[in-house]
Amino acid sequence: MTDFDIKYCGKCDTTKFTDEFNNSVTTKDGKQTCCRSCSKAYNKANKVKIAAKRKEYYADNSASLLKNQKEYYQNNREKRLDYARKTYTKNALVLTHDRAVELLKYEPSTGSLTWISSGKEAGTMAGNGYKIVTVDTNKYMLHRVIWLIQHGEFPENIDHINGDRIDNRLVNLRSVSTQENLKNRKIGSANTSGIMGVQWDKARNAWNVYIGLNKKNTYIGRFNNIFDAAAARKAAEIEHGFHPNHGRI
Ligand SMILES: [Zn+2]
Repeated sequence: MTDFDIKYCGKCDTTKFTDEFNNSVTTKDGKQTCCRSCSKAYNKANKVKIAAKRKEYYADNSASLLKNQKEYYQNNREKRLDYARKTYTKNALVLTHDRAVELLKYEPSTGSLTWISSGKEAGTMAGNGYKIVTVDTNKYMLHRVIWLIQHGEFPENIDHINGDRIDNRLVNLRSVSTQENLKNRKIGSANTSGIMGVQWDKARNAWNVYIGLNKKNTYIGRFNNIFDAAAARKAAEIEHGFHPNHGRI
């Protein structure tokens, strides 16, 4: 460190080393005008004011911020997927069957998972309608931990057979491949007929029937009568081995 690496803080009237100042993009020397401890004290004293300002900034710039965020996610899709994959693999390796049964107790008939130490119900609701549980600082889908407890290993994918994402009774859980899990999903809200894979074709005045196979929407046929369309869809489902619950509302 040379003699130049010092800076005067007017707030506490002290000359300090420059590395005791936070970085700044708006000043000439790249450092904030007051030192780190003064800056910290200011932030602490003005917590409410700063939070309000930040909120105002987000509100004023929400459109451009959202656009940037969307762009970032689109441009970095692979990177994000890779990160999620790594995190999942890491977590799957971290939690062992031994550790899970040491901490948690599962009741197969009711689906309840409780902490052995406190007797309290484990897990919280996630935004996607599933329950998550934090074990040793890592987050897991609760039904996956249940599967680990019952079967000694993490599954590829779990299907809630009756479609209720928090009904974790053992009879309601089964391990399926990702493809099979998609076959048992709920009707999309954009569906126009109330029957999965049957859509009204306004131009042709008829019902178009589709089925999703290997990630592709495959056209089955066009029908004037909705019952014929529904029957054609059902026949295709049976032919391709879809789960009986497929298409429930
Ligand atoms: Zn200072």
